[in-house]
Amino acid sequence: MSAHYDIAIVGGGIIGLACAYYLRQAGREVCVVDQGRIGRGASHANCGLVTPSHALPLTQPGMVTKGLKWMLRGDSPFYIKPDLDLGKFLWLLKFANRCNTGDMLAAMHGRKAILDSSRQLYDELFAAHDMDCEWHDEGVLFVFKHAAGMHGYEQTNALLAEHNLAATPLTGTALHQREPALLDDVYGAWHYPMDAHLKPDKLVSEWLRVIREMGVTIREDFRVGGIDRHTLYAARDEIHADRIILATGAWSAKLNRALGCRIPIEPGKGYSMTFTQPRQPVKIPCLFQEVKMVATPFDTGYRLGGTMEFAGFDESINETRLGAIRRSAGQYLREPEGAEITETWHGWRPMTWDGLPIIDQAPRRPHILIVAGHNMLGLSMAPATGKLAAELITGEAPHIDREPYRYARKFA
Ligand SMILES: Cc1cc2nc3c(=O)[nH]c(=O)nc-3n(C[C@H](O)[C@H](O)[C@H](O)COP(=O)(O)OP(=O)(O)OC[C@H]3O[C@@H](n4cnc5c(N)ncnc54)[C@H](O)[C@@H]3O)c2cc1C
Repeated sequence: MSAHYDIAIVGGGIIGLACAYYLRQAGREVCVVDQGRIGRGASHANCGLVTPSHALPLTQPGMVTKGLKWMLRGDSPFYIKPDLDLGKFLWLLKFANRCNTGDMLAAMHGRKAILDSSRQLYDELFAAHDMDCEWHDEGVLFVFKHAAGMHGYEQTNALLAEHNLAATPLTGTALHQREPALLDDVYGAWHYPMDAHLKPDKLVSEWLRVIREMGVTIREDFRVGGIDRHTLYAARDEIHADRIILATGAWSAKLNRALGCRIPIEPGKGYSMTFTQPRQPVKIPCLFQEVKMVATPFDTGYRLGGTMEFAGFDESINETRLGAIRRSAGQYLREPEGAEITETWHGWRPMTWDGLPIIDQAPRRPHILIVAGHNMLGLSMAPATGKLAAELITGEAPHIDREPYRYARKFA
């Protein structure tokens, strides 16, 4: 007899773990399965930022032109591999179509609700459980090398300020006192005090420990290839569950056939390099806006990360792009790297074309919940995602409006 659970969660990234936590809290028997090891997907070595400030989606007016310009440079932060992938082409068309003010604001509304709730739920999570994940909540800096960029951002800040997301501008001495690691010729930064950061692999292992202690079953090396109503099939094994959650991140569309519907998620590859701490690391995370990359300080190290490649599940490491990340950091920081590289990593962000996750029943399969597509913000959106998923399953009133995360909006 193979095992039976109330809920089977496919995918042990940060989203699957968050769902498991809130469902177990609601008294359900839960099993999380993963095709490999838990937490080795995009949730492993990302930049570690928890950013309510990122309410605006990528789909902003002017983004298509900017993207096309970046495409012409091999070391730019953005790349689309030219190929005959029709799914990717249609995804890109839909993305391009959304790059207007109305759609940007609509997406902002949905992103803000889930980001704000998650930020609050992180506080509650860490109050309830002792989790050693290097959590710091002094905010992040959006850094501009040049005055034009800093001042150009005023309009965005004004828009965000209308939604309770105002940043403090820092220039001159105020900036260099706040962040002495920046080079003297860096012009300015906007400080977002509501943001925080942590070490993502440590959060994964600590949250995993907590849910195990709560009684959640974990099955690694269980790649779900087929789903037949209440049964999940792996190569030589199967499990049964009343309800199924697909928290399969960037891999979600690989289950289209098993599910009988299209999940519009494309993998968006990014890189990170982790170092031993430099002698003068940044004190708080810095997003270098002109080059679209991040430097994050940890208690136990230091990370540079960024880039977005739409090239399918290409496993190769693009040395040009890694080199660009390192060179870009050198334009902003006195000591852009630590003495030793401890990890070079790539991960696939689960990208939807409107910047919002899908948290909804699969069409014609009401017992299956799709919980995927957290784009560049899975860490920042995880707790509220898990809570909402649990509410949709238990029938409790959703703590945030569920409408923005409906599957059907994708085809509306
Ligand atoms: C370079 C980089 C930097 C980033 N920085 C940040 C940041 O600072 N802040 C932030 O909020 N977000 C950040 N992100 C985005 C964030 O990492 C993702 O949004 C988030 O990790 C997605 O979580 P997930 O659980 O959906 O996916 P994943 O962590 O990828 O987990 C999905 C899991 O599903 C499993 N799986 C897939 N298919 C199957 C199957 N058929 N059977 C069984 N298991 C399966 C996979 O093995 C995987 O473990 C960054 C991403 C990258 C790449």
